[in-house]
Amino acid sequence: MLAEAIFTGTEMLLGQIVNTNAACLSRELAAAGISLYRQVVVGDNLERIREAIDDARRRADLIIVSGGLGPTEDDLSREALAAALNLPLVEDPAARENVTRYFAARRRPMTSNNLKQALLPAGARALDNPFGTAAGVFLEHEGKIYALLPGPPREFEPMVVDRLLPLLEPYGARREVIFSRVLKIAGMGESAVEEALKDLLHGDNPTLAPLAAPGEVTLRLTARAGSPEQARELIRPLEAAIRERLGEHIFGSDADTLEGVVGAILAGRRLTLAIAESCTGGLLAHRVTNIPGSSDYFLGGMVAYSNEAKIKFLGVEEETLAAHGAVSPEVAAAMAQGVRRAFAAGIGVGITGIAGPGGGTPAKPVGLVYVGLDIQGKVEVRRELFIGDRESIKWQSSQSALYLLWRGLRNNPCH
Ligand code: ATP
Ligand code: MG
Repeated sequence: MLAEAIFTGTEMLLGQIVNTNAACLSRELAAAGISLYRQVVVGDNLERIREAIDDARRRADLIIVSGGLGPTEDDLSREALAAALNLPLVEDPAARENVTRYFAARRRPMTSNNLKQALLPAGARALDNPFGTAAGVFLEHEGKIYALLPGPPREFEPMVVDRLLPLLEPYGARREVIFSRVLKIAGMGESAVEEALKDLLHGDNPTLAPLAAPGEVTLRLTARAGSPEQARELIRPLEAAIRERLGEHIFGSDADTLEGVVGAILAGRRLTLAIAESCTGGLLAHRVTNIPGSSDYFLGGMVAYSNEAKIKFLGVEEETLAAHGAVSPEVAAAMAQGVRRAFAAGIGVGITGIAGPGGGTPAKPVGLVYVGLDIQGKVEVRRELFIGDRESIKWQSSQSALYLLWRGLRNNPCH
């Protein structure tokens, strides 16, 4: 069953409210195994809502409209559905009861415009709305299903779950589940990931979708099946194929973070960590200490921003700084070694780079970052050239350091 959704409300087009009903509906339909192929937002305008319904019914089996069921002039969804299908509006006793009951329960007088909510397109049935005046509308017409649901989120959500989905069960709702698994990748850009997986990206069930975030690529593997277990079975061979190609970059899955995964390895192996930061200004230490229990492995860090601080506290040689500059592989390595020594840690990390926007030169442009890693005397340096604003470069630098650390730990399993 293919669904499309139309969200009505000029407030959304003006950016005054966020379309939270869209997220709610998408989640519920996915969980019920109904494919939602398109969502549109239209203002409170009869012709545009009618046109949106008319468009959607050419493609979809199920057309859901959110909002516009209230008593006021700008509530037009019933009229729009009637106009799209060329049906008259007729009063419905159950819809009328929904309105009158609401006012009676609150001992408030009902204004006459409220009776508009008792009108439904001929052939439709009212969906009882316990939380508001407006009943929902459910209509089967020429092989298509139309559902109009009230806009206020505290009415919309229960109407989807308790009213609409049960009515869709005869059409297959809830017989399938949609299950997703997420793989997390670092140390590799989005296009390189896509290139490596391009023959896998066009699958139908499971589907594979890459999503890029700064310093990280997320792969979402989604399968539809009769049960979560069957969906997992469908996903397993795809995941295996991806791991075979990108395994050295896949640091985790689902809710894993690089700092969390690294922390778990350090804790598991009883290793200790110290961090020296220049351009990231403490961001890496902040991320490492976001993990509960990080005191088990994180001994401390130092923001050594000036050359003097690098010399005085980290023991970076003045000659190294003079010969190569602060942003250099030599200094990144010396910072990692120096901080490891200063804290008597098993592992030292050093970060030095140019976060911009000023300070770049042709030889050392903005975004140039070196990350040094010293694992018990074994030193390596990673060079990066990031694109982005200052904050993004700082973030990507911290990400690169965590990736280097994760990879270093993986490649040195004996420590
Ligand atoms: P009412 O009887 O309250 O008029 P309605 O069914 O006519 O309900 P709308 O008038 O479209 O619905 O919206 C009522 C209120 O619900 C809006 O002012 C807005 O605050 C909220 N709302 C509507 N649509 C959405 C949406 N898609 N996402 C989040 N909030 C929404
Ligand atoms: Mg309204």
